Amino acid sequence: MDISVIIPVYNEEKNIAPLYSDVKKVLDGLNRSYEIIFTNDGSTDGTLEELKKIRSSGNTIKIIDFNKNFGQTPAIMAGFDHAVGDIIIAMDGDMQNDPADIPALIDGLNSGFDLVSGWRKKRKDSFLLRTLPSKIANSLISTVLKTPLHDYGCTLKAYRRNVIKDMRLYGEMHRFIPAIAAWQGAKITEIEVNHRARKFGKTKYGLGRALNVILDLLLIAFLSGYSTKPIRFFGKLSITTSTLGLITFLITAYMKINSGVDMTGNPLLILSVLFFLVSIQLISMGFLGEINIRTYYESQDKKTYYVREVIN
Ligand code: UDP
Ligand code: MG
Repeated sequence: MDISVIIPVYNEEKNIAPLYSDVKKVLDGLNRSYEIIFTNDGSTDGTLEELKKIRSSGNTIKIIDFNKNFGQTPAIMAGFDHAVGDIIIAMDGDMQNDPADIPALIDGLNSGFDLVSGWRKKRKDSFLLRTLPSKIANSLISTVLKTPLHDYGCTLKAYRRNVIKDMRLYGEMHRFIPAIAAWQGAKITEIEVNHRARKFGKTKYGLGRALNVILDLLLIAFLSGYSTKPIRFFGKLSITTSTLGLITFLITAYMKINSGVDMTGNPLLILSVLFFLVSIQLISMGFLGEINIRTYYESQDKKTYYVREVIN
C-alpha cells in the first residue's frame, strides 16, 4: 500500500460525502494504491451512517468507530495504528483542509523529507478566537522547541511511515508531532496549503484550548530535553535549592556571631531548613525519574536512539 489518508470525524455528517468525493478524486489521479481511514470519534449525529454509505461504494475505505468521543488526538492515533501505507497523510474531516494539496505534500516527502507540514497561510477562521491565539502559540512553540514551523495546529501533514511508527500520543499532542519527530531526528519542512471556511457543522474548540496548549508545551519541552536523563533536570533544581539553603544558613550564623541575633528566632533559619528539605525532595524525584525511565524503556524494549538505516 502506498498511501493512507487519515481523517478524524466528530459530528461531521454533512461533510462526509463531499469530502470523500474530493479526496478520492485527488488520490485516483495519483495512480498509486491508497486507503482512506475515517475515525468516527463518538459522533452523535448521522456521521457513522454517512460513512457506511460511502463505504458501500468503494473498498478503499476503513472505518474505525470509537465507543465514545475520545478526542482528535486519539482519533488520529487510531488512524496511525490501522494505516498500512508507506506514506501517511492526516487531514481534518470538516473540509477546511483542501485535498488538492496532497500531491504537493507527497512531493515534499519524495524530495527527501520525513515529515511535510501544512501551513494555512491565509487562514479562514475567526481572527480573535483562532488566528491570533494560534499565531502566538506557534511562535512560542517554535522558540521553546527549537523546531520553527508557522502552523503546528494544521492537521494536514504528510508523514513517512517510520516517523509515526513508534509515536505514542497522549492528551492533545497531535499538534506536537513535528517537534517529537524532530527530536527523533526526522527531517521536517512545511509548505503553504489552502484553507477554507467551514461550510457545514461547528468547530469543536474554543479559547479554552490555549491553556491546554501551554501545559502540553511545558511537558513536551521537559520530555524533549530530559526524557532520558531526568536526574539532570531535578538535580539542577536540587543543587540550586541546597545552595540557597546553605547561603541562608550562613547568613543566620553570621548574624548570630556578629550581632548576636538568636538563631532559633531568626526566620532565615526556617527558610534555610525549607530549602534543604525541598532539595532532598527534588533529588529523590530525580532518582525516581531515573528508575521510571529505565522501566519505561526496558519493559517495552524501546531504544533511546533512532536509526535511519544500517549499512552493512
Ligand atoms: N474532531 C474529532 N474529535 C474531537 C474534536 C474534533 O475527531 O473531539 C475532528 C473534527 O471532526 C474535525 C477535526 O477534528 O474533522 C478538526 O476539528 P475542528 O474543525 O473542530 O477544529 P478547528 O478546525 O476549528 O481547529
Ligand atoms: Mg476545522
